[in-house]
Formats: sequence, structure tokens, C-alpha cells
Amino acid sequence: MIQRTPVRIEARDTSHLSDHGTCTSENQSWQTILSRSISNPEHLLERLNLPAERWLDGARNGHELFPIRVPEPFVQRMEPGNPNDPLLRQVLPVADESVERSGFVRDPLEENTAIQTTGLIRKYHSRALLMVTGQCAINCRYCFRRHFPYNDHKLSREDRHQVITTLSASPEINEVILSGGDPLAVNDRLLAQWVELLEAVPHLKRLRIHSRLPVVIPQRVCDDMLAWLNRTRLQKVLVVHVNHPAEIDQATRDAFERLKQAGVTLLNQSVILKGVNDNAATLSELSETLFDAGVLPYYLHAFDPVAGAHHFDVSDTDAASLVRQLLKRLPGFLVPKLVREVPGEASKTPVPAF
Ligand code: SF4
Repeated sequence: MIQRTPVRIEARDTSHLSDHGTCTSENQSWQTILSRSISNPEHLLERLNLPAERWLDGARNGHELFPIRVPEPFVQRMEPGNPNDPLLRQVLPVADESVERSGFVRDPLEENTAIQTTGLIRKYHSRALLMVTGQCAINCRYCFRRHFPYNDHKLSREDRHQVITTLSASPEINEVILSGGDPLAVNDRLLAQWVELLEAVPHLKRLRIHSRLPVVIPQRVCDDMLAWLNRTRLQKVLVVHVNHPAEIDQATRDAFERLKQAGVTLLNQSVILKGVNDNAATLSELSETLFDAGVLPYYLHAFDPVAGAHHFDVSDTDAASLVRQLLKRLPGFLVPKLVREVPGEASKTPVPAF
């Protein structure tokens, strides 16, 4: 495991932020960066000086099952020539993905049984999950939704109307979670329309967004996005999904700062992944780096047994041991809660550390 020296912010000088936050400036708009993402294993290996003869066959096999997709700002944080780079391991398809393992299934959270209406998943009493898109900016090999039938959940105008009708008739729901795919892969015009529809439902008070985009393409936190965030009456929470401290660079810190200035509460949830973050030193550094960047560690997710990703699995016993080590190293508020999602349960299920 590569240990990297964290870069710390010395002062909160934000005078430069608006320049980085423009949505349509020259050719560095987030959409342009997204459209230029690496989508071919050969290109990624070449870009990182890794020998094709060693890695390409396996990468092609995995790529056929779940295509590779990785944007350039994320690639820039990887170490060239290192096949074990923890960021690379999250995105490079490998031969193991085509090996079937008992207990690893296509829909580990049984989400198909929780669909209330097209695009709306209801697992919990007071929260509903709105899947605004199946697109992501990055295809994480461990994704528990890597087999999700997104094509069956494309939202038409009528579907959107039905979502709002369903939410309006459910006064116990006070929080909508924008999910996907990655909800921030959608353009700001459409997101602003969604937010307008949601804030017209009087009992909704919170908008939670789960997204990896501010991390993998920090330019995504642009003026158009900040405009609808600033406008809405809803409380805003953004859960970034960072698994390793090397994912956070200065551009990411700047993006988090812009979000905080727009009144967004920033939380992080990680997945515990073998070969990426399954040691106490990395997890401890992750919590410290997140907090330095204004993000509170929130959940550490036990691995969901999704088919094609068994090579990332870490046992609950080992995960609990890591949390015990974190408790010795960190103040309590920097130790994320170790949880597992169990299909049919009314909340995340804590995994006991002791
Ligand atoms: S939904 Fe999240 S974890 Fe899954 S591929 Fe997209 S960004 Fe990665």
C-alpha cells in the first residue's frame, strides 16, 4: 500500500474559487472533461506506463462485463507504473471479475423489490431514493449497482409527475436522496427543475445528494450548480464517496469549499475495499484528510457482495478489527460508523466493533 503525504490547506483563501467554478469556460467545462474520460483499458494502461502484456487480457474481460470509465483528473492522482495504486485498483477491470463466487449476486441489496414507481426506491420510513440517471463519471469496479437495469428506469415526463405525486402522498417522507448512477452527471438545468418540483412538496425538508463527481471531476462544482443549491429552501447534504486519501487534491478541496459556501453539509462514506483501504493507517489518514477538507467521515460500509467484485471483499471480522484500531488513533468524531446494508432492514445495520 502506497502511503502518500497529505497536502494541507494552510489558509482559507477563497478569492480564486469563482474562476474554477465556471460551468462553460473554454474547453475545461466538466462536460468536456467527462466526455474525454478514458473508456478503453488499453488507453489507461498506456497512460500509466503499465505493460499491456501483463494486464490487458484481464482488463478486456472485465471491461466487457462492466465498461471502464475514468476521467482525467482522477487519473492524474494515480502513480504511473504502479499496478497496485489504490485509485487505479478501483477502476481497472481485472480477470477476477469473470470468476463466479457463491454468495456474490447481481442485486445484493435486492433493490428491485423496493421500487415504488419508476425512478423511486423506498427502503426507509422517512427517506426516498430518487434515481435521476444511470450515468456515472467513473465506473467503480466494486459498485453494488454494476448490474442495475438502468435502462428500465429512464424517467419520462410522466414518470417525473408520478414521482412527485407519490412523494406528495407520503407525508412521512421528509428527505429525498438524489442517487443514480451519479445524480450530478445530469445537467444543471434538469437538476434545477427537479429541485423546484421537490421543494413544492411541503413536507420535504432535506435534499441529500450522493455523488462522486466533485471528487473525480472537481470542475463539476460550477456556478450553475451553485446557483440552484443557493436558491433552494431545502437543507442540503452532499455525501461524497471517497475511499482513499490520495483521492483528495487541491482542486477537490476547492470544490468542497465552494459547496460549503453554498450552505451544503459535507459528509463522506467509504466502502472498505481489499487492496485499497483495508488498513488502519490509510483509513486514519483518510479521516484526517477529509476533516482538513471540511468533510465529516460518516459511514464505513462493509462490502456488498456484488457479482464480479469478490476480490474486494473484506470480512466483517477484519473490518471490525480496523475500526477498533481507528478508535485508538482518532477522536471519536473522526471514526466512521461501520455499517452493512441488509435487504429489507429499516436502516443501515451497524457492524459491532467489539
Ligand atoms: S454509482 Fe457510485 S460507486 Fe457505482 S459506479 Fe457510479 S460513482 Fe461508482
